Amino acid sequence: MNTELKENTTLILRNGDVVKVNKLLGSGGQGFVYSVTVNGEECALKWYKQMPSDIFYENLQKNAEEGAPSPSFLWPRAVTKKKFGSFGYIMSLKPDGYYEFSEYRLAKVRFSSFRAILNAAIELCEAFRLLHAKGLSYQDLNDGGFFIHPETGHLLICDCDNVFPHGDSSGVLGKARYIAPEIVMGKNMPNSYSDRFSMTVMIFMLFCIDHPFEGMNVVRHPCMTEEIERRLFGEQLCFMYDDADTKNRPVRGVHSNAILMWSLLPNVLRDTFKQEFSKGKLDSPDKRLTEMQWIDILTRVRDSLVRCPLCGDESFITRTSVSCINHHCNGAHSVMMWFETGDRSIPLINNNILRTGKGDMITGRVVLKPGTSDVLLIQNLTKHDWRIITPSNKSVTVAPRGFFPAKVGMKVEINDNETTITYKINN
Ligand SMILES: [Zn+2]
Repeated sequence: MNTELKENTTLILRNGDVVKVNKLLGSGGQGFVYSVTVNGEECALKWYKQMPSDIFYENLQKNAEEGAPSPSFLWPRAVTKKKFGSFGYIMSLKPDGYYEFSEYRLAKVRFSSFRAILNAAIELCEAFRLLHAKGLSYQDLNDGGFFIHPETGHLLICDCDNVFPHGDSSGVLGKARYIAPEIVMGKNMPNSYSDRFSMTVMIFMLFCIDHPFEGMNVVRHPCMTEEIERRLFGEQLCFMYDDADTKNRPVRGVHSNAILMWSLLPNVLRDTFKQEFSKGKLDSPDKRLTEMQWIDILTRVRDSLVRCPLCGDESFITRTSVSCINHHCNGAHSVMMWFETGDRSIPLINNNILRTGKGDMITGRVVLKPGTSDVLLIQNLTKHDWRIITPSNKSVTVAPRGFFPAKVGMKVEINDNETTITYKINN
């Protein structure tokens, strides 16, 4: 069946609005994507090559009515009435500056910084947290499924038409290399646990660009059959950096990205990937890290990311380690004080930018007091007053743009989205 639409075709949405087809933008396995005009606005239309089931049609309509769980999803906005033996749905057009993740894999695009990668990983987890909280699972996360901005790390997750309630299946079982082993082996239907597996695979790929399970085992099979694929990504799944099983290590010259990037990752990330992809965890879907646990880990890593005081490259400084991404630099540990709350620890060093909220918003900065070599000033770059409690228990207000000298024992109360976070300055 060929259901390709001609330019200027009109379609009717189920809400009665009229869609005018402008031009074909692309084509994938399931359907065509067109630029269309709806109520004077230019949007994208995905039009199915083969008409999916009525269950799929009604689920799509329900998702469109309920709206996107997070702005990171290119979510269905409205569904068309059936015509020409098929149907489609409307979504926003992808803005400029975003690239499909597969283009990063082909080295056509590169992330500008570790910060951008961390932002993308945190945003991915946050989007899945909100999706799962609504009782929905994505089911088909893979490297062709989203677009990322290389400078900011903002991401747009597309192909949201396979989003179904936990345990229900869209009928699409996902791309074999990205779905959880229990789904590959037919033990379970897709759910939030299997989504978490795919999410961790994607987080690894954001950092390392290569696939965490495609090492020597895949190179050994130049002619990949479905049968071998089911084995390698099902019962014999083995992480390329598994501590106990080394047979799937990355291969020099083939997995150069993984080899390089793995060596630059902070220990906490390496350890988390090893745990999440250990044989024991792979066999226990309900033990996988939750989205929130991932966000906490990634936020702590982002807190430790500073400009290296020696060379100016990005560097991870924690209370126990310093690692500069510049191979020729040993990094420098010049941190005298830390800005701390809960298990977050932000190093106070000259020129560091502070992001004290949950997101990546800049909320303050650290500068050396002019004429001194060791007095650090903190500037309030939020729109709210900060309240400082000095070590001698005096309360001082620091207005937006105002500075105060950092002193060990000080408490700083900062508003973030109507909650107050209290940081303590420790040595
Ligand atoms: Zn350095």
